[in-house]
Amino acid sequence: MKRRVTILGAGPAGLWAALSLLEKHVEIEVTVLEKEGSPGGITGSFRYRDLVFDYGSHRLHPATSSSLMGRISDLLGDDLLKRPRNGRIWLEKRFISFPLKPVDLIFHLPFSFSFGVVLDSLTSVFSDRSEGVSFEDTLRSGLGKTISTRFYFPYAEKLWGLSPSELSPVQAKKRIASSSIGKMMKKVLSSVRGSSVSSGYFYYPVNGFGQIASRAADSIVDLGGKIMLDTEVVSVIPPSGKHHGTVVTAGGDRIETDFLFSTIPISDFMRFLDPVPPPSVVEAAGRLLFRSMVFCFVEVRKTQYTSYDAHYFPGLDTCFSRLSEPRNYSSTDEPHGRTGLCFEIPCTEGDGVWSLDDDGILKLVLDDLAKTDLPEPEVASFVVKRKRNIYPVYDHAFSLNLGTVEEFLKEYSRMVSFGRQGLFVHDNTHHTMEMGVAAADCLSADLRWNAEKWADYRELFSSHVVVD
Ligand SMILES: Cc1cc2nc3c(=O)[nH]c(=O)nc-3n(C[C@H](O)[C@H](O)[C@H](O)COP(=O)(O)OP(=O)(O)OC[C@H]3O[C@@H](n4cnc5c(N)ncnc54)[C@H](O)[C@@H]3O)c2cc1C
Repeated sequence: MKRRVTILGAGPAGLWAALSLLEKHVEIEVTVLEKEGSPGGITGSFRYRDLVFDYGSHRLHPATSSSLMGRISDLLGDDLLKRPRNGRIWLEKRFISFPLKPVDLIFHLPFSFSFGVVLDSLTSVFSDRSEGVSFEDTLRSGLGKTISTRFYFPYAEKLWGLSPSELSPVQAKKRIASSSIGKMMKKVLSSVRGSSVSSGYFYYPVNGFGQIASRAADSIVDLGGKIMLDTEVVSVIPPSGKHHGTVVTAGGDRIETDFLFSTIPISDFMRFLDPVPPPSVVEAAGRLLFRSMVFCFVEVRKTQYTSYDAHYFPGLDTCFSRLSEPRNYSSTDEPHGRTGLCFEIPCTEGDGVWSLDDDGILKLVLDDLAKTDLPEPEVASFVVKRKRNIYPVYDHAFSLNLGTVEEFLKEYSRMVSFGRQGLFVHDNTHHTMEMGVAAADCLSADLRWNAEKWADYRELFSSHVVVD
């Protein structure tokens, strides 16, 4: 009988683990269980009235390693486009380019902002460089008062739902690559010179970002793997060296497995374990906070709404943090006379925004859009989707809670959690694909897990820099 590996979640992490395992070991049977009706997780796309929508702005960043890029190119061929970045930020009641350009920082922002940044840069030479105890003081000492209070603090509160003082300094280190004025200026200048690896362009499939996941899923099936969609996992009896494990689905199926990879949210995974972990572990897992998101997808009666791919809205005066127009990502001219807009509204599961009905969400979006310089869209129709577990939130206790859960998981030699949700990290798509490839690399044909090698990979993952 073939050895059975079950993977929970068909996002990029789960898919790339499955693909890599099947390419490596013909003697392993791989099954991926996914609760949604299509693969890709948050990187998936869907069709609505002939428009292709992603779950928020998604791009494949040039920071993707050349080996991974090669594999993605093999899957997509000519369908993978290299596209120029063309975004804007709504800052101080005006739009400026994103990624930032020095000319905008100096000439297109209010004098008080530009002057404040210059003054902050000069005083930063003498400021206290000691490690901050919160997101707030880490950014304030790195970037100065102006950029922190007028850009990053409201943005942080909007995205993660906590005030900057309630967030851990790790949130600043992991999420904001340019956490000092010097680094920020270097990035801005390198983008002008074109020397930055992330400057100016990105990769995008012709049929939506989700085409990467759907091609990976096709290859998994071609290689003999199985992907069970609409299959929500509700309980897990872990496999051990002596006994197989069992994954129980919401539909009542019981799937036997000899090894288990989980890429679903780590807090859910802990709740599903049978036997139930000790109370301290369950409590720690329950205290790991995730932010959710309401997506408002709007069909607009116009061939192109603006020429920009994305608009970023850091301020708390608008409910959405970003507006993207998928047509401008793939440069398609179909369908004619209509385009799609995607509004990303960060929220917390169960709060006022999350619970608002769909008409209420559209009204909120349009009312807030009217506060900006963007034109009023002629709305033909719209659809609202809600997703849990969008962003991990690093409060002051997250590291302690995560440590407790990870320590407990080490007791299992045939069960590993990884991916953005499984490791509770902010990582990009290419990072989570690399995690999948790494996980497959640590598993031998006879299902022995190389914990030492995995620890080395984890060390590597901790150096991931998130790209926006
Ligand atoms: C708004 C937004 C924009 C982003 N933009 C970019 C970008 O431009 N570029 C970039 O590189 N990255 C971007 N990212 C990050 C990228 O989306 C993630 O890195 C990637 O999706 C993580 O993949 P994953 O497989 O680890 O997790 P996920 O994609 O979250 O996959 C987990 C899977 O598990 C499934 N699942 C959960 N619970 C169960 C269950 N009980 N049973 C069965 N299945 C279950 C889920 O449905 C999902 O399919 C963005 C993220 C967000 C939120």
